[in-house]
Order: sequence, then C-alpha cells, then structure tokens
Amino acid sequence: MENTVSEIAALWDRILIKIKAKMNDPLVYDSFFEGSYIDSIHDNQMIVVANSGLAVSILSTKYKDMIDGVVHDATESNFDIKFVQKEDIKKTIEIKPTKRAFFSDSDINPQYTFKNFVVGPSNREAYQAALMISQNPGKLFNPVLIYGGSGLGKTHLLHAIGNAVKEKFPTMKVLYVHAQDFLNEYIKYVNGQNEGTNLVEWFRQEVDLLLVDDVQFLANKPRTEETFFSIYNNFYSVGKQVVLTSDQNPSLLNGLDDRLKSRFVSGLPLAIKPIEKETCESILRLKIDANGLDVNDFDPDVISYFATTFGKNVRVLEGAFDRLLFYTVNIHKTKHIDLSTAMDSVSSLAEAQDAKTQLSEEKIINAVADYYSLAPYQLTGKIRTSQIAMARHIAMYLIRTMLDVPFTKIGQTFGGKDHATVMNGVEKVENSLKSDKDLAKAVTELESRLKA
Ligand code: ADP
Ligand code: MG
Repeated sequence: MENTVSEIAALWDRILIKIKAKMNDPLVYDSFFEGSYIDSIHDNQMIVVANSGLAVSILSTKYKDMIDGVVHDATESNFDIKFVQKEDIKKTIEIKPTKRAFFSDSDINPQYTFKNFVVGPSNREAYQAALMISQNPGKLFNPVLIYGGSGLGKTHLLHAIGNAVKEKFPTMKVLYVHAQDFLNEYIKYVNGQNEGTNLVEWFRQEVDLLLVDDVQFLANKPRTEETFFSIYNNFYSVGKQVVLTSDQNPSLLNGLDDRLKSRFVSGLPLAIKPIEKETCESILRLKIDANGLDVNDFDPDVISYFATTFGKNVRVLEGAFDRLLFYTVNIHKTKHIDLSTAMDSVSSLAEAQDAKTQLSEEKIINAVADYYSLAPYQLTGKIRTSQIAMARHIAMYLIRTMLDVPFTKIGQTFGGKDHATVMNGVEKVENSLKSDKDLAKAVTELESRLKA
C-alpha cells in the first residue's frame, strides 16, 4: 500500500476524530491518544507511535478492540496495528519516522539544486564552498555562513547542500530550518508543548547536518540564542556540519550574541555579491529553457533589459519574467517577444518605473551625440548644419516619446527654443521615420541603447 505522508497523516486525523467521539472521558483521550501518529503502513501492518510507554500498553490492551473497529470502518480493511514509542522505532523497525518531534514542517525543497544554480563571479565562492561541504560535510569548514542581500540565492544554496547531501549520504539526517521557525519552535518548547523531549538533546540525536537560514532573525533574542549556542557547540564538538545564511556580514550583525558572532566569523563567512548582468542573463535563459520555451523567441534586447532592470534581486527578476510569460501567452498572444512587448508587460512594476525615471534628458542627449559623433553642447547649441539639426530633432523626439516631457520644457533644454519649434522638430522625425530607413534604424538603435 503506497500512501503519501500527508495522506497517512490525514487518515490518522480522521481516525482520531472518531475515537474522540466514542470516548466518554476526554481526559483519557488527552492522556493516551493525543500526539499519536501513524509512523508507517507496510502491507497490512500499521505502526502507530503513542505518546508514552504507558499509552502504548493501554492502547494495545484496553482500547485495542475499539481502535481496530474504528480503523476498519475508516479504511475498510483489516490492519494489524502495532503501538510503539518513538524511541523504539529505530531499534525494532527500519522505517523512517513521518513526523518529527520538532520542526515537523521544515523540509528540503527538491527544486533548489546545484544543477539549476547559475554560477558567476558574484556567487562563485559561495557556490564552490557549498559544493565542497556537501561532498564532505563536517570535514572542511565549520560553520559556514553565506551572507548577502535579498534574492541573491542564499536559500537556494542552502537547500542545494541539503539535496546533495541526502543524495550522497542517504542515511544522514538533514534539517533545514529558517531562523524564524527556530524562534517559533523554541517558544512552543519553553511553553511545554513538546513535553518530554529536550530540544538541545533532540538536535544532538536527530540531526546530522544543520542548515539555518536568515540567522539575523535570532538577534536580540538572548534566550533563544543561548539555546542555539548550546546546539551549535554540540555540533561543533563532534564535527557535525552547520551551514548558516544571513543578510549581512556576520561581524556586522547587530544584536547577536557576541559568542555566536565570533563563531560565525571564525568559520567561513562567504559573501554573495549583487549578481552581475551576464549571470542574470544566464539565469533568464535557464528559466526560459526550464519553461519549455525557445530562447530564440526572445529578442536579445529583452533579456538584456530584464537583467538590467530587475537583476538586483533574482526573486524580483523571476517575478517580472513570470509576468512577461503570462502577458505574452494570455494577453498579447505572441510567440516572438520583442522589447516593446516585454516592456509593456512589466510597465507597472516599480523597478521598471525606476528605470524610466533614471533615464534623463541628459542621458538621451549624450546618447544621440555619441551616436552621431557630436559633442552634447553641439546638440543643445545654435549651430544649424543639417546633420546637427537632424541629430537635435532626434534627441527632442526621444525626450518627448521616452520621457513624455512637455514641448516648452524641451525648448528650454535646447537653448530656449519655443514650443512650436520643438513640436515641428519632433513631428519631422515622426514623419520621416516611415520613409527614411537610416533614420528608423538610428532611432531604434538609440531606443534600445537607452532602455538597456
Ligand atoms: P535569498 O535567500 O538570497 O534571498 P533565494 O535563494 O531565495 O534568495 O533566491 C531567490 C530566487 O532566485 C530563487 O527562486 C532562486 O532559485 C533564484 N536564484 C537566485 N540565485 C540564482 C542563481 N545563481 N541561479 C539560479 N537561480 C537563482
Ligand atoms: Mg532566503
């Protein structure tokens, strides 16, 4: 019988509801059934973990028939139910527990692997260290702390280590935990909700590789830090690997216990720097591929624009890219994606708007001057050779169309020309664009340089 962990958990929940309804004494239910769970189902054998030795003996004797009946009704099959204590499982049966005493919801995300992590100068060190650790956990550097800004791939690397270690060392017990979850679990623990199990001891026994994400969340929580420190020391003293991430250099982590800080600093702190443009472009190509699309359907300008505009944070980059896909598939229904479609798809995003405001009249004038090998002052000055006049009109046109600046204001930039003169210049470009191929090429080229 093949069931997923969540199906099995849901089945036991249904069974418990029925049992609870049958019991006339809620205290008995609370004492012996609370916290029980199905550890595994193999063929017709069901292993149920009860909350104590006493519960095991009571459930196996006094309540056995009642439980058998309820399980039979719920599953329409006859199970041989065996009650055990959690500690007995490993000794008697070779089956993985489905539910942990702590961090039962923390899991390694199989999507984040080394294979789909794009490596560039900004993240190479962190990547290589992570890879080495996962081949040889606990043996090289301990602890390792990866730090850097938001959306630079820290969490991805942490899970990649977890996945690689689980693959290479299947029996190793790997725990990924976000520092916020550690805090929450700690609070539950001190409030006595995990009665009977000591948290520090649990880590010592149940975890071989500890991956802690965003450790800055532990700052200013002295009691949690104290406990974490004990857990960490246990790991360190027996050579078990700890890998952490934080949003900045550990020596700058304010409010963090000095002892913890010095441990982090003396391990191996590794920075992930802002991802350079080329790496962002590779990430995008990888995403295009992963979505079953053809990179050739995307104008290179599109990739470049996305990398520049959204590349400060790969999470934002991915969000913008998803939007582009949604837009081109559902709204625009295009296969070939050009720059203007791509820009439209993300025009409402803050990053796209920032990029627009960063584009200034000055930038446009410089770009046009550069394109025609002129000096910027020639464009804004009074000389009227035909070549300069044409370049000047193009600059006005671009300022008008790309920045939406009023004609009068453009006039001021170009040495005090009036509204009508500027409007004429812009219209001249607009009209010639249809017939003049060289002009059209120049304008397109300038637009894409300015958007990049
Ligand atoms: P952080 O934890 O540093 O805030 P994440 O690891 O959550 O960042 O990364 C955000 C998103 O960007 C994730 O979906 C991750 O897969 C992706 N990502 C970040 N860096 C890379 C990279 N170098 N290659 C591929 N994907 C990346
Ligand atoms: Mg993260």
